[in-house]
Amino acid sequence: MEYDNIRPSDFEQGPIRPPSEARSLLLRVTRNCPWNRCTFCRTYKGTRFSLRDIGEVKADIDAMAEIAERIRQVSWRMGHGGLVNEEVVRGVHRSPEGSSLHVQSVLLWLYHGGKTVFLQDANSPVIKTSDLVEILQYLLSTFPSIQRITSYARSHTIARKSLEDLQALRAAGLNRIHIGLESGCDAVLAMVRKGVRAEDHVIAGLRVKAAGMELSEYVILGLGGRALWREHARDTARVLTRIDPHFIRVRTLAVPPAAELNRQVAAGEFQMMSDDEIVEEERLLVESLGEVHSHFVSDHILNLLEEVEGVLPGDRDRMLAVIDRYRALSDEQRRHYKVGRRTGRYRSLGDMENQAMHLEVERIRLRLEQLGSGWLENDLKVLMAGYI
Ligand code: SF4
Repeated sequence: MEYDNIRPSDFEQGPIRPPSEARSLLLRVTRNCPWNRCTFCRTYKGTRFSLRDIGEVKADIDAMAEIAERIRQVSWRMGHGGLVNEEVVRGVHRSPEGSSLHVQSVLLWLYHGGKTVFLQDANSPVIKTSDLVEILQYLLSTFPSIQRITSYARSHTIARKSLEDLQALRAAGLNRIHIGLESGCDAVLAMVRKGVRAEDHVIAGLRVKAAGMELSEYVILGLGGRALWREHARDTARVLTRIDPHFIRVRTLAVPPAAELNRQVAAGEFQMMSDDEIVEEERLLVESLGEVHSHFVSDHILNLLEEVEGVLPGDRDRMLAVIDRYRALSDEQRRHYKVGRRTGRYRSLGDMENQAMHLEVERIRLRLEQLGSGWLENDLKVLMAGYI
């Protein structure tokens, strides 16, 4: 068999990556989150942060390189000259070790061009700059095809790194940082125990840009709850306007059962916003952004209006028009759209015009509503929780 000698080598992988890194190879540089106190987050609950030994990380890179080499050998034997195309992917899948997660992650990475890497876990730049530089250099010398290396980082950490440190990381190949800004409102940041102030976000964001890296800022819609939604939207817009990041990425708050925020919701200490209220908040956020030149991205399944996307400032009116189109729907049409969106049938308001899909979604909506008041909202919450 041409694909009978792919064997999995061991390397570690952490639990998450940003949605935009779906095609990236995941390289674990640290384990878990050194802060681990945000009330809305359960990703690393019950775990302890630890640094990984540089030798271990390099051994992971070697293991990935070994798998990549074996996959290329399969490609040569199948007559594809080292290229990893669909036929090679199918061939490797059929091999005895083709179901190994390690083999699959390297395989899909090569299939997508082998160009991007995401450093895990929650805050890789927290390690010594010289150590991260060494890892980046080793990674690039092992895989010269890599064009983009990205990492999550806390603003708290970046604000304590010098510009020279960040420039050294940029020179070594780290070219995009994803920051969980979540909010630009100090009251919200304190309430959710983010461990940073709005000013830290501004300092960190501007420093990342000054070092020549791309900057992606994540905002959580609904994080202020009913009590602070206006402040959350306006202050977040103000902070983002000062930073002017390359990307503003929004995702809607959904509270995992194990998160502290879930207890606060149950105790009545935090009031979750409805979908319609969050649409109002998003409108205020988009409207309040000043002269920014960011890609506004809504690439999370939890967002009701995924099509509120564009390049600012030019696309602002079009984005507001999408929001206003939703606001103009009747209550019944909104319920219909929410069912379609939360069940994964709809991606845009225009999808409601597809008659077959409309009928199918309407059947589901009516069935849920016949069960009595509260069923529809509860079911939509359950569906959202499944996407966290
Ligand atoms: S810093 Fe990020 S990973 Fe850590 S607890 Fe907060 S949201 Fe979760």
